[in-house]
Amino acid sequence: MSSHPPMIEVRSLRKEYPVEDDPVVALDHIDLNIAQGEICCIFGPSGSGKSTLLNLLAGLEKPTRGGIRIHGVVINQLNESELALFRQQNTGFIFQSYNLLPALNALENVAMPLMFKGVSKSKREYVAKGLLKMVGLENRMNHYPSQMSGGQQQRVGIARAFVTKPYVIFADEPTGNLDSKSSLEALEMIRTFSRRFNQTVVMVSHSAMAARYADHIVTIEDGRIIKEEFPSKDQPLNLVEI
Ligand code: ADP
Ligand code: MG
Repeated sequence: MSSHPPMIEVRSLRKEYPVEDDPVVALDHIDLNIAQGEICCIFGPSGSGKSTLLNLLAGLEKPTRGGIRIHGVVINQLNESELALFRQQNTGFIFQSYNLLPALNALENVAMPLMFKGVSKSKREYVAKGLLKMVGLENRMNHYPSQMSGGQQQRVGIARAFVTKPYVIFADEPTGNLDSKSSLEALEMIRTFSRRFNQTVVMVSHSAMAARYADHIVTIEDGRIIKEEFPSKDQPLNLVEI
């Protein structure tokens, strides 16, 4: 047993969306611990509540009930500006559709989050170049998003999410727009970065391929956790595509 508290602790979480007079209960009775350095996959079919859970963990939405503690901070008690600062200093985000800034080249996109941390321009470029090399894009540093394939754009997105060395990286369907070869490359890179600095990754996916990269698989259905697995410790997985 580890003596460290979990990096992420979720208690009795519930999220309702007001829809006229019949609110949608997107999540209910969610209790979850995610350890530092763990790659956690929130797995489940479309509409099960995966994105809602990720958005709550990332502080992008407020829970209706329950609590979320990340690295010792109860994020549901922070106000909007405190939350924005917390996200900037502790988290990174990888998007399904990459969300690169089209007017910036690969190097500028990766270096961008360091600007908010007050890092000098020369240091930003040095660090961003190192990450772009690690994702195999040393020959694409000056290319704009429109000049890159989806797989290349997502590698830029991954480098950008890790560039500030955040404690937690959130990813919503990071391979959702990629073919299987690019998906595997993206998942390998996420794992390599995460292992290097013992960073926690919380990834949402409905793909069994992505779940196979996880240390901790949380299966949700109709807004509830129905199964938790720790594949490296348990038996081999037998995940079916859903
Ligand atoms: P998933 O990411 O697993 O596909 P979501 O978290 O997006 O699922 O959605 C879970 C449930 O919550 C769905 O029934 C969805 O329709 C509902 N939902 C999500 N966002 C909203 C919203 N802003 N307003 C109303 N209902 C929503
Ligand atoms: Mg979703």
